[in-house]
Amino acid sequence: MVKLKSKQEIEAMRRAGALVAHVLEQVRQAVRPQVSTAELNALAESLIAAAGAEPLFKGVRSTQAKFPYPAALCTSINEEVVHGVPGVRVLAEGDIISVDCGVRLDGYCGDAAITIPVGQVRPEVQRLMQVTEEALGIAVREIRPGGKWTDVAREMQKHVEQAGFSVVREFVGHGIGRSLHEDPKVPNFVDRGSRTFDLVPGLVLAVEPMVNMGRPDVVYGDSTGWTVVSRDRTWAAHFEHTIAVTDSGSDVLTVVR
Ligand code: MG
Ligand code: MG
Repeated sequence: MVKLKSKQEIEAMRRAGALVAHVLEQVRQAVRPQVSTAELNALAESLIAAAGAEPLFKGVRSTQAKFPYPAALCTSINEEVVHGVPGVRVLAEGDIISVDCGVRLDGYCGDAAITIPVGQVRPEVQRLMQVTEEALGIAVREIRPGGKWTDVAREMQKHVEQAGFSVVREFVGHGIGRSLHEDPKVPNFVDRGSRTFDLVPGLVLAVEPMVNMGRPDVVYGDSTGWTVVSRDRTWAAHFEHTIAVTDSGSDVLTVVR
């Protein structure tokens, strides 16, 4: 069941979203060669705690995972698409790292992700990040009341595929509110089975294109049962915003205030 949000609820979600954006900005500034993903996670945990908020990914269970999710951030490097677990691995010049963060503040959730280059990256990797961020930008631009989600998703997919990349199918965005994951499911592609939904004021969505340089297929990449990698091991990027449908268009809630 889709739960529409009042204007007051959207303002509460904007405060949660601003915290997420602040955390991601601080992590971006901390990214450099030789920094470990555990250090980035510790930074995020301290910022979330200082704001009196709760990290949403910590403690999440998954049927195939060996343990509940242990961190505030997902840190996915290079061919890792999503759900990389922070640990001892250190970043190297030329890597990319997708950082996903979700918090609950005063009862409402925010969820966003960015892919960050570590120093200088290859031109095609730079283009992968740019195209993925542009796909999210298309959603921000195309979401409007009276629209249908599949019309937005089709434009996102087209942009990615025209660049020669592919949209991950197995993981999708979601409604968000008091809970991290609410209805509806928000795919970044359209296929024969795609169910659409109406874009109406008060609908709040976490839109999160995941884009592979190669084939769209993904697999679990290590023994944790968390880390998702591209099956062909080509690199992947991930950008996400929490976005409200307004009376006139869209309103991005995960921005620094
Ligand atoms: Mg997220
Ligand atoms: Mg999400």
